[in-house]
Amino acid sequence: MLRVGFIGLGVMGGPMALNVLKGGHPLTVFDVNPAAVAKLTKAGAKSAASPREVGAASDVVVTMLPEPKHVEEVVLGKNGVAEGLPKGGVIIDMSTIDPRTSQRVGAELKKRGLHMVDSPVGKTSEHAETGTLTLMVGGEPEIIEKVKPVLDRMGNETYYCGGPGMGHAMKTTNNLLATAIMVVNTEALAIGVKSGLTLELMLKVMKTTMAWNNQLAVAMPKKAFIGDDSPGFMVKLAAKDVRLACELAEAQGFEALAGRATQKTLERAIAKGFGERDTAALMRIREDELGIKVRPAAPSETKSA
Ligand code: NAD
Repeated sequence: MLRVGFIGLGVMGGPMALNVLKGGHPLTVFDVNPAAVAKLTKAGAKSAASPREVGAASDVVVTMLPEPKHVEEVVLGKNGVAEGLPKGGVIIDMSTIDPRTSQRVGAELKKRGLHMVDSPVGKTSEHAETGTLTLMVGGEPEIIEKVKPVLDRMGNETYYCGGPGMGHAMKTTNNLLATAIMVVNTEALAIGVKSGLTLELMLKVMKTTMAWNNQLAVAMPKKAFIGDDSPGFMVKLAAKDVRLACELAEAQGFEALAGRATQKTLERAIAKGFGERDTAALMRIREDELGIKVRPAAPSETKSA
């Protein structure tokens, strides 16, 4: 049984680590937030004093951290995982970061006799809890094969995307689209309600047209349409994902205009104090700005409509 380390025990990493532990892997964890660590030690994981110590106690270390800079620091920095992990050890980075940082970190690890697999995840914190995430995996096939039992504890739909960094290329591309769709949904629905349309009618019509999308079908009914902006997927993380995608586009020589507009909308929400709320907060901001509510009608109202 592979000994696993887990660093970054937040909304996603916490339940993912728990699923690894439930699979019978000896687990050592680290997070800068002691409350996040306590949840895992209570369930039977060991805690370590630094990423280096996590590395020393593990064959495989998973990172689930907010941004590229956190991954670089935790893996390659002073007291980082690379200082402790025995030769031949593998780091699986499951954070959403850009492919170029991922490739740079992976190349540095290779020089030290260590391996890197990138496996960012799709879907939501609910799927993190049930171990049913979508995994977008990049790296060398024989290394991926070695860590598959660990990946299988966290996801049930695994896509091999190519060599090092390609999982992150897939995820960056995916999140640009998913986030831009969500932002424009809030804009369109707010315009509709302000113009006198009901949410029910708009959804009924949109379901038959090219406007229909999974944010409208799946995500928004569970959060935005009931006014729940508890995280979930935080606005600040969505802004980071879209920024990374726009930077990737620019490095490739073109401007992601829709992406930059999406990023601007998210950054405006952060400036209003919603950075640590779920992206459902974007609907709330539009509602407040326009003096409307984009909510389903109560059952009695629906009957009489
Ligand atoms: P989160 O902020 O809830 O969790 C991040 C955790 O990392 C926190 O517990 C934080 O204390 C810890 N951390 C930060 N810096 C650290 C450091 N230097 N050393 C150790 N621990 C550190 O975020 P999350 O929602 O769990 O997201 C994690 C990653 O997964 C992000 O890259 C995000 O974009 C991505 N993601 C999130 C979702 C989602 O729905 N929330 C879905 C897919 C992917």
